[in-house]
Amino acid sequence: MRETEQRATRAYMENFGEEPDLVASAPGRVNLIGEHTDYNGGFVLPCAIDRRIAVAAGTGDGELYSADFDETRSIGEKDSSWADYPRGVAWAIGEAGHGIGVFRAAFAGDVPLGSGLSSSAAIEAATALAIDALYGLGIGRTDLAVLCQRAENEFVGVNSGIMDQYASLLCEAGAALLVDCRSLEAQSVPLDLEDAGLSLIVCDTRVERGLADTGYNDRRAACEHAASTLGVKELREATEEDLHRLYGEELKRARHVVSENARVMEAVEALKDADFDEFGRLMYASHVSLRDDYEVSTPELDAFVEIAEEHGARGARLTGAGFGGCAIALVPEGETADLTKACERAFAGRGFEEPAFYEFVPAAGAELAR
Ligand code: ADP
Ligand code: MG
Repeated sequence: MRETEQRATRAYMENFGEEPDLVASAPGRVNLIGEHTDYNGGFVLPCAIDRRIAVAAGTGDGELYSADFDETRSIGEKDSSWADYPRGVAWAIGEAGHGIGVFRAAFAGDVPLGSGLSSSAAIEAATALAIDALYGLGIGRTDLAVLCQRAENEFVGVNSGIMDQYASLLCEAGAALLVDCRSLEAQSVPLDLEDAGLSLIVCDTRVERGLADTGYNDRRAACEHAASTLGVKELREATEEDLHRLYGEELKRARHVVSENARVMEAVEALKDADFDEFGRLMYASHVSLRDDYEVSTPELDAFVEIAEEHGARGARLTGAGFGGCAIALVPEGETADLTKACERAFAGRGFEEPAFYEFVPAAGAELAR
């Protein structure tokens, strides 16, 4: 068992006085390329990270315990706490017509929360897999992901796309996941960083994503306008030639989406060939497009990408919605300490918040513990 799974098991035994019926866990994720493409029906390419949330579960009286918050909550409520995620998943599974009884569960995890690494999808996916196994429902992974998304959208009230839940439930170790956000088809793509001698570094710039909501909504609206100007349902269907018919803001936003979708497909080919020079070039190009056309970068994110490039990163880019949050880089093994030190110095010198750094390994999606 993984460490988080052991902690969840212990928490269950200490709180409920018996062994759980089963233990499941699910990872957070980072998006390697394909940003602001999901709500345009396009492509994303996330990978799961080696940080997980585990749940120990058994039939019982509806108590939910979090080892990390050291709190017990009842499943039959809604209170804007962490417990709304597992409650929402149970609700969504019920809404889909599956009969489930009352269960109890203990959670423990190490996905940094609220950092854009999708701890929310991790707790949803772990809960969904546990409920599915506990009641022998036999719901497939993609359907579980859709139910988790419904839990987050409708029960918790956060309007997120399908990427996070897909990544948490469908990723494989040593691989990325190509998701077509229109058809909801997904395909594993090899991502052998060890073989390539590369480390995946995440820099959390710790910038409050203050303008994120309005900025995000503005971008979505501009994309919808651009699509309707072009007479297509979603920008996924727009081509490079179509861009000649757009002006100003609509042109810039659409140009990012159209070029980013193309970059994701090229990135998949590069990974299949283990061509990390090409993959890295596409990451840098994605950043430039997000910075100049989509205008969602920040001085901190730009600084990280620049410093990463100076330190020999094959590729680097902001990841997530932007306006703060995280950036990623693929760095030659052994260069990571130099990069993070240089970054800390530069950030301090420019009066930025002190960043947090993580190094992740592309990990397995949700699993039942053995
Ligand atoms: P992100 O998904 O980017 O990490 P969110 O705000 O979407 O950020 O989700 C974070 C929320 O998920 C936390 O506020 C908490 O409610 C829940 N959560 C995350 N990690 C845990 C955990 N280890 N135990 C219980 N709840 C957690
Ligand atoms: Mg989240």
